[in-house]
Amino acid sequence: MGTVTAFFGSLVFDDRVMKATLSAKVYASLKKTIDEGTELDISVANAVATAMKDWAISKGATHFTHWFQPLTGITAEKHDSFITPSPDGGVIMEFSGKELIKGEPDASSFPSGGLRATFEARGYTAWDPTSYAFIKGKTLCIPTAFCSYSGHALDKKTPLLRSMEALNKQALRILHLFGNESVKRVTSSVGPEQEYFLVTKEMYEQRPDLRFTGRTLFGAKPPKGQEMDDHYFGVIKPRVAAYMEELNDELWKLGILAKTEHNEVAPAQHELAPIYTTTNIATDHNQLTMEIMQKVAAKHGLVCLLHEKPFAGVNGSGKHNNWSIATDAGQNLLSPGATPYENAQFLLFLCAVIKAVDDYQDLLRISVATAGNDHRLGANEAPPAVVSIFLGDELNAVLEAIETDSPYKGAEKTQMKLGVDVLPKFNRDTTDRNRTSPFAFTGNKFEFRMLGSSNSIACANIMLNSAVAQSLKIYADRLEGAEDFETALHEMIQKTIKDHKHIIFNGNGYDESWIKEATEKRGLLNLRTTPDAVPHILDKKNVEMLTSHGVFTEAEIRSRYEITLENYCKTVVIEANTMVDMAKTQIAPAIESYAADVAKAAAAKKALDAALACSYEIGLVRKLSALTDRIATRAEELEGALLLLDKAKDIGAEAAMIRDSVLAKMGELRVVCDEAETLTAKSYWPFPTYADLLFSVK
Ligand code: ADP
Ligand code: MG
Repeated sequence: MGTVTAFFGSLVFDDRVMKATLSAKVYASLKKTIDEGTELDISVANAVATAMKDWAISKGATHFTHWFQPLTGITAEKHDSFITPSPDGGVIMEFSGKELIKGEPDASSFPSGGLRATFEARGYTAWDPTSYAFIKGKTLCIPTAFCSYSGHALDKKTPLLRSMEALNKQALRILHLFGNESVKRVTSSVGPEQEYFLVTKEMYEQRPDLRFTGRTLFGAKPPKGQEMDDHYFGVIKPRVAAYMEELNDELWKLGILAKTEHNEVAPAQHELAPIYTTTNIATDHNQLTMEIMQKVAAKHGLVCLLHEKPFAGVNGSGKHNNWSIATDAGQNLLSPGATPYENAQFLLFLCAVIKAVDDYQDLLRISVATAGNDHRLGANEAPPAVVSIFLGDELNAVLEAIETDSPYKGAEKTQMKLGVDVLPKFNRDTTDRNRTSPFAFTGNKFEFRMLGSSNSIACANIMLNSAVAQSLKIYADRLEGAEDFETALHEMIQKTIKDHKHIIFNGNGYDESWIKEATEKRGLLNLRTTPDAVPHILDKKNVEMLTSHGVFTEAEIRSRYEITLENYCKTVVIEANTMVDMAKTQIAPAIESYAADVAKAAAAKKALDAALACSYEIGLVRKLSALTDRIATRAEELEGALLLLDKAKDIGAEAAMIRDSVLAKMGELRVVCDEAETLTAKSYWPFPTYADLLFSVK
């Protein structure tokens, strides 16, 4: 395939291709649209479309699609071919600027959370020139936003772009106050670390729970799990290495900056991290990465599990959203600077993030709320559902000094006044404590670690960008009207620290005592489950903030509320039905046939010698028989709980019923089945066990 430098981005209509294939005038005009968001005129669009089509055809493409991200959380595409009949009976390959700019997929089957009922049935997709077009298979994929005709966002990209715009606007106000007049644009960037599991396709196929729900719904603990910690950063097995190699090649062709790969803590768990890029592109790339991970796995006889919690009792998979903001000149605004002024500016941006995370803890939690992720966040696994910020000891000491107007211990006798050059160089804190924090400062960026492995990163970044934009807006309003900039700045930073220090926690987030302290002493939110969290999106303060920055309309927020809960309910109901089915048609019959054979063996032994006690067989048959009875009862109870869902008056009530009864009944059914697994001969068990699955890939 040649060297990486030669094929990197070979399937992307990137800047290199644009420069080479567009006239100088068209290129300049497109570049302006990309960099500054200016409108694109149709003649330019036509020229770009033609160049894109010719390039795509030269790479073997026959179709194009508007690639978008509906609220299902995955991507969607509808392919159209380039062919147009010509009068002589043949075809020519055509693609117009109009087709590039706008598409009209049949929107009716995508979730709209009531937006369509209230507004318009039809939807359209609009080209997002800030993310490069690319080729997948034989199709030219054009990244697009998806809206209803009345302009309501039916996707995740539109609000993400709006949130980036909001952040840009407010950050520019702040930078101008600091005399930074030449900055044109501020962009948030993200590097999402993606965790996943690999199991063999053969075993996956034998488990209806994995096939239908992406996670195991049954499974006794294996004799060996992750307790030896021998998998983390361990030697990568040959089959996994071959997989990773091909995955990297495929991602690189798509211009995705896959950089690091290693084994994770749990057996069969791995991670891939790309080099960071703008939030919008990072989101598109992460969606593509997840898709390609699954495709490449299939080619290797493997299945890539992106579920947050495929195995009980084994670490779940998350996604670390490394986030920062930078200017078009490349200055990272979350990086402590070299001059006093830069440091004051850094502290202000840092405070903006602290305030944002505290004021909108609920929105951050909501942005990662799914049925799958509840198994990580609400359970005994890091990070917890309580949002807190890790700053590290050094930075913490700096903030304490500012708060109390006292000298900072690292700087001899210097009063910690802003604008004084006393900020130390912050080392990346790599202690274990920081790994348990949901939101950690890691030197020049924040790492938001609550995202589930299958989540689109769009939601988290929409909330993060918007909340920080809101802090910056409050700061800018105050500073623009201040008589003395430096005094006002100092007061505001001090006030932020005082008001929001309760969200800063540098200790161990795994600790039970932390949850108690967080909720009881500090008054932080602990929204353990999706039904607990999601209703807060409708809180007045949240609606006001999101609408005031133009990120969502009120109707759009309502639609997200509906869809998130609907998704939660559907997910758990499918899981519950799968459980009932597996328990009744696979597990109970397997136990029965084993018990029958054990009973037969005892009878045969007794026939040989009536004096034999056969207490082992009799005891086992009794136990197994009691277990099948309990399985039948538990399955019935679960079915009963599911039937009651019909009585729920709305989606909020249904989600609450699921949280309060269905999940508990699922847990009870699982316990009996897992117990039976430990008593049943392996050859009778109807599907591969945890030990089989977790240690299957060599
Ligand atoms: P780790 O968390 O494993 O120690 P790193 O700190 O090297 O790894 O990086 C993790 C991720 O953070 C990578 O995807 C990297 O590109 C990303 N990252 C690094 N700097 C920034 C930044 N300024 N903005 C956003 N993401 C960043
Ligand atoms: Mg990390």
